[in-house]
Amino acid sequence: MHYKFDTIIIGSGPGGYTAAIRSAQLGKKVAIIEKYSVLGGTCTNVGCIPSKALLDSSEQYHIAATKFDEFGISVGDVSLNFTQFIQRKDEVVIANNKGLEYLMRKNKIQVFEGTGTFISSNKISVAGNTENWQLQFDNAIIATGSKPATLPNIIIDKKRIISSTEALSLKERPKSIAIIGGGVIGVELASIYARIGTKVTLLEYAKTLLPLMDTELGKALARKLKKENIKIHVNAMVTNAKNHNDFTKVTFKNAKGETEEITADYTLMAVGRIPYTKALRLEKAGVRIDEKGFIIVNEKLQTNVSNIYALGDVIGGAMLAHKAEDEGSFVAEIIDGQKPSLHHELIPSVVYTWPEVASVGRTEQELKNNNIPYKKGKVPISALGRARAASEKDGFIKILSDPKYGEVLGVHMFSPRAADMISTAVTALQYEVTDVDMTNVSYPHPSYTEAIKEAFLDVSGKGTISL
Ligand code: FAD
Ligand code: NAD
Repeated sequence: MHYKFDTIIIGSGPGGYTAAIRSAQLGKKVAIIEKYSVLGGTCTNVGCIPSKALLDSSEQYHIAATKFDEFGISVGDVSLNFTQFIQRKDEVVIANNKGLEYLMRKNKIQVFEGTGTFISSNKISVAGNTENWQLQFDNAIIATGSKPATLPNIIIDKKRIISSTEALSLKERPKSIAIIGGGVIGVELASIYARIGTKVTLLEYAKTLLPLMDTELGKALARKLKKENIKIHVNAMVTNAKNHNDFTKVTFKNAKGETEEITADYTLMAVGRIPYTKALRLEKAGVRIDEKGFIIVNEKLQTNVSNIYALGDVIGGAMLAHKAEDEGSFVAEIIDGQKPSLHHELIPSVVYTWPEVASVGRTEQELKNNNIPYKKGKVPISALGRARAASEKDGFIKILSDPKYGEVLGVHMFSPRAADMISTAVTALQYEVTDVDMTNVSYPHPSYTEAIKEAFLDVSGKGTISL
């Protein structure tokens, strides 16, 4: 069957579905192609949503098992039903899939289930399970995302050497797991499994966890995770991991350069993700990729073929759902002839450990390395009445600002609810509000946001009130 659309989007992840909805809102006739039977891409099905569902479940279990006594609550022995633990996560994912199906119907977006393959720069074929389609387009948006990376000697066999996808759907609680990579996936999955009693070993090549963030964050998080019985090796270069049928063995060079081996039920590869363009046959449309496989785009997120755009993980940069979403709206508006703006340098990063880690703007090491002068304000979370009420002892908020004008340069949080609080900092940076201005805003008491106020008071030189 042949169809013609104004805009066709390939991939239904956060980038794809946002581009589709915004395009439809702008009056375009829109189709979205998704090779899986469910919508939502990595984020909804095997990424953000299922990992947060398991983080929340494991946190509830951990609190019940370790904190209830202190709060005067007795529930007897706390035990975990692992099947239900995984099933609740599946139900959360399905609810999100259904929400997306509803949004496609509401916005009159035609969904084609099948693999999209370019025929030319204005035609694409879709190979479905029982039917094939040929679709013509004025504009196409490639939003095909990414897939897990591995290391040269290591094959992800999905049985014992696994990626995050398998780690989110294990059949039984593992006794032990080795996690290669102390980046975002590594520390989130380490938290999930350590909280439910799995022996976790985390191996990170760099000298701190979360090496792309401000180093104080990675160091503080390592201290917290060690208290949760996670064994952490930094400066550890993993060279091999093998499946020995009923266990795995990981070989790495430790900080002293000596070779060490560890065994675990499973080994999770969490060493980053690579762009996914398989099956697209980009050469048929003439679309270029770079040496790492990312689709090359200009500042309008337009490829070298003027009516084909690309966004999200497949173009590189921060591999984050909200970055893909921002780009989705942006491209839809560009195609509509509008002049939208993107602020890639102000996309917040959040890690959903407890406390949460959240960051926006420049890190302290970045400012130092570039000889950019800065002032620093830092306050501990433990000083807040809100934290004492909740028995939260760990965390801090650190703010870096310009010594002359007080422009906010970077905000770094290790705090309960940091994921929700970081937006205040994003607003301050994006609209160039000064540190003094931020002290003149009212912050509710008692709340964790008071740490933001205190950190702004500290960095602006006015002096903290309650610390
Ligand atoms: P994707 O979500 O990857 O979607 C691409 C879609 O395209 C897929 O559904 C794929 O099937 C489809 N597709 C590919 N090729 C074709 C084809 N030829 N034809 C048809 N369909 C095709 N980010 C956050 O911001 N917050 C988080 O908490 C977070 N947690 C994460 C946890 C994990 C474990 C992982 C792995 C990632 C997480 N991320 C998180 C990252 C986030 O998932 C990605 O940045 C985001 O999904 C990228 O969106 P996208 O639209 O570019 O691509
Ligand atoms: P990452 O880039 O965050 O971390 C990979 C880590 O592996 C790095 O710290 C790196 O130093 C380490 N590493 C590489 N080679 C190694 C080796 N030989 N030995 C030991 N360590 C090694 O990637 P990720 O954690 O796999 O996550 C992939 C993407 O998914 C990221 O871009 C991330 O933004 C996204 N994601 C986001 C969230 C979130 O926003 N909360 C959650 C999960 C994933």
